Amino acid sequence: CGIIGYVGKHDSVDILLDGLRQLEYRGYDSAGIAVYGKSGVSVVKTQGRLQRLQDKIDAGERPFGCCGIGHTRWATHGEPSDVNAHPHRSGRVTLVHNGIIENYMQLKDARLAEGFTFQSETDTETVAATLDHYYEQSNDPIQAIAQTIHDAEGSYALGILFDDQPDTIYAVRKDSPLVVGLGSGENFIASDMTVLLQHTKQYFLPEPGEIAILRKDGVEVVDLAGKPVHKDVLTATWDV
Ligand code: GLU
Repeated sequence: CGIIGYVGKHDSVDILLDGLRQLEYRGYDSAGIAVYGKSGVSVVKTQGRLQRLQDKIDAGERPFGCCGIGHTRWATHGEPSDVNAHPHRSGRVTLVHNGIIENYMQLKDARLAEGFTFQSETDTETVAATLDHYYEQSNDPIQAIAQTIHDAEGSYALGILFDDQPDTIYAVRKDSPLVVGLGSGENFIASDMTVLLQHTKQYFLPEPGEIAILRKDGVEVVDLAGKPVHKDVLTATWDV
């Protein structure tokens, strides 16, 4: 139900956890983070309150890295459980999702026929598997994302990491909220701009059919054909 993402010069874990705490008001039953570190992408996730995620991280599963995504889940497909919590991983893809994929059974059947195995009961994992499937074919993140959202029907805000695209977050949305926050030497995604106001007031809203590519030093936006899109940067005029 809530998404946060950070890429910058600081360790991402506390920034992600703090963002998730501020997103708690949206309601949730599980929480998790994925961090791009020295040894690739690490996921820590759990059913229950954020304190439980914090405890799991403090108990020795603390990842380190300056790029990561976080999620609070409000289960729609699959009961609240550790496995169904986000982020979901498939092959080289790790992602968090808010929304509902209406045709997830169709996507699941297509992937099962190709030999994919599923860990969770979520609609979200079918998107991770589909993205992984296309990424295997082209090795091109933009093309793979475009093909995946062409196939997926429903609502989504997605924050995506690829194992071999270090310190880069890809973000897309349709019918679910997502903002991109622009800092200096750091950039963010979030379900709600108020969560980012302590970091920056500069932001824009990605439209359906646009893919935002966030790195420490800048954010690019392209359309589904990979063509650059110009976005006007907005300034938040409200305070927290
Ligand atoms: N439909 C997804 C799930 O059940 C995402 C729910 C959400 O927006 O938190 O896992």
